[in-house]
Amino acid sequence: MAKRKAEYLRCTPKATLFRAESVEHRNNVVLHAASKWAKGEAAPTNRDVGRGISVNSHFDSGNIEVVDISNSEKHGVDHTLNLRIHADPYCESDKTAHFMWFFFRVTGVRDEQLHLNIVNAGEGSFPTAWPNYQACASYDRKYWFRIKDTAYDKKKGVLSWHHKPERDAVWYAYFAPYPFERHEELIAEIQSDEHVHLDLLGQTLDGHDLDLLRIGEPGKDKKKVWIIARQHPGESMAEWFMEGLLHRILDRYDPVARKCLQQAVFYIVPNMNPDGTWRGHLRTNAAGANLNREWDHPTKEHSPEVYYTRQAMDEIGVDFLGDIHGDEEIEYNFLAGNEGIPAWDDRLRKLQDEFCSAFLHTSPDFQLGNGYGNDEPGQANLAICSSAVGQRYKCLAFTLEMPFKDTDYAREPVQGWSLERSQRFGHAFLNAVLAVLPDLR
Ligand SMILES: [Zn+2]
Repeated sequence: MAKRKAEYLRCTPKATLFRAESVEHRNNVVLHAASKWAKGEAAPTNRDVGRGISVNSHFDSGNIEVVDISNSEKHGVDHTLNLRIHADPYCESDKTAHFMWFFFRVTGVRDEQLHLNIVNAGEGSFPTAWPNYQACASYDRKYWFRIKDTAYDKKKGVLSWHHKPERDAVWYAYFAPYPFERHEELIAEIQSDEHVHLDLLGQTLDGHDLDLLRIGEPGKDKKKVWIIARQHPGESMAEWFMEGLLHRILDRYDPVARKCLQQAVFYIVPNMNPDGTWRGHLRTNAAGANLNREWDHPTKEHSPEVYYTRQAMDEIGVDFLGDIHGDEEIEYNFLAGNEGIPAWDDRLRKLQDEFCSAFLHTSPDFQLGNGYGNDEPGQANLAICSSAVGQRYKCLAFTLEMPFKDTDYAREPVQGWSLERSQRFGHAFLNAVLAVLPDLR
């Protein structure tokens, strides 16, 4: 706990100021109230207006529904908040309406003891992922820490955590969110660099722009490196990864980035699912399509995100594809390879091994041995992006997964797997790309 507070203060220099203000403010309220409140009766602690505890997710990437809140108007007593996660639209390919992603703000909570229950957690997409999960919380929406006191009751199917916030409002989320507005800011920042071209792949069903960043100048012998992320919008770590990767590629003093750009052009889709991101979905787009099950039959009506991206790949060509994801259950970073595609051969195996061994050297957060296991020969699902692309272009293609929880072999007790570590992981990824570039074609 002490460490958590220290971490928070270190990362937000203004926190000390806020703290001082609020103590003074609190004292004033108590002084003013002293004459009004009879002896022994609890005086108001920290509010000028008594709206009590309120929950809201009506914002970019937000998701929660309130069932009920106990004692919401009272101060200094325990409060139980029963909440439900709102499901994505029904997904035909997966025969379910997915949910696990949550992101909401609770206001009026300073020094109040909260007991939060996600009452429908057990009906979510991956209930076996809840044990050992710790909810993420933030006071400034920049620094996210874990709530140690999180537990899953398997019998009741309820995920609960207990927290006494130190500020008036607190945000809780499944993982450090990467809302659509931040994506827009990222695109604006990256496209400001003179070496970057921004292309519009198309528009989504909700009318969002689907962005493709091209970094580097095309040339006869240049390799075409595609990296895409967030087909599953609830996997926000994937776009934090992209942020780290993009900043490294554009660092003109970085020798790895410079060498990469001499040999390759990067085609990057930092967010494949803007609608799902904005709506607060876990796994699907506005029509309920699981985009990572659409690569064998994308349509403009149901999965335009995949349709337009695949069209651009056909026009440009692909020598390398990394598809970046997060896994709810497995507490490791790992790569899911293409052993099961019909085109799998010694050349692709050698490339994949070379990539993995370079990544192992660059980032101790990467590992081999824990993951999904390999598909049997010829048994890959060609509706999945990396399999479809590997097969279509006979190139090195894989899915990269990061944990929602933490890495079992290198735990970070305060934040778990975090946005910061996702960024560093994206940063390190470039070394492994460089290692395979000369051999891609
Ligand atoms: Zn995914």
